[in-house]
Amino acid sequence: MGSKILVIGIDAATWSVIDKNLDRLKTFKMLKDSDDFNRKTLTLDQKPYSAPCWASMFTGKTEEEHGHHEFVINNEIQTRKDIKADFIWDILDREGKKVKALNVPFIVPPYNFNIEFKAPGMGVPTTRDEWDAEIEKVTKKSIETLEKKELDLFITCYVSLDKIQHMHWGGSIVDEYYEKIDEAIGKLLRFGEKIIIASDHGFCAFGDAKVQTLPKVTSNGSKLRGDHHEDAILITKGIKKEINNLRDVFKAVKEEV
Ligand SMILES: [Zn+2]
Repeated sequence: MGSKILVIGIDAATWSVIDKNLDRLKTFKMLKDSDDFNRKTLTLDQKPYSAPCWASMFTGKTEEEHGHHEFVINNEIQTRKDIKADFIWDILDREGKKVKALNVPFIVPPYNFNIEFKAPGMGVPTTRDEWDAEIEKVTKKSIETLEKKELDLFITCYVSLDKIQHMHWGGSIVDEYYEKIDEAIGKLLRFGEKIIIASDHGFCAFGDAKVQTLPKVTSNGSKLRGDHHEDAILITKGIKKEINNLRDVFKAVKEEV
């Protein structure tokens, strides 16, 4: 059991943190050393905002084309219906492929396709309990799903690192949670014949990126230490197409499925 293509999305995962922690990140170390996997930096050619970036990754369209710019517009939480574009799962499902997607964070709470799932913290986890719960529940649900039947495509995503890095960039808690994510994805890899692991953008100290995505002090008065960076991570196995931007992930999946 498993999936012909397995896509693991890790919101805000960044090489700068992974590479300095390789001695404790067993899965990323293996992924780096293994000849079966290719790894690269995916430098975005669009604004490093999570909502439009995830939408581009899974619609194959630019932000202008899919028209999804923010999680909330004019105080209205955006839903799947507000996005007038087909996602990879819509297209493959119509073609009769077996597709499931779990916790994809282009909307809040994150989107699920053909799966029932309730994201801890409504998909915006802000406490240790919620971060732990997200990593544990997404991993558990992924394994349950992949063990149940053979799929053509399974997409699963984690959002915790984004929230942790915004609040704690530079702190040891960031390294600690990379280790938890590392352990989690290590449990999923055996289910994928072809694999794509990607982040929607990278991360850096506040002020170091080309585009600032949030104000330095949020509306509730807390100070942000980190912000999104244009360099995302990409690791692939068995994918022939060269992936040079987020839209290429969609194209690669369509070609390989
Ligand atoms: Zn993000």
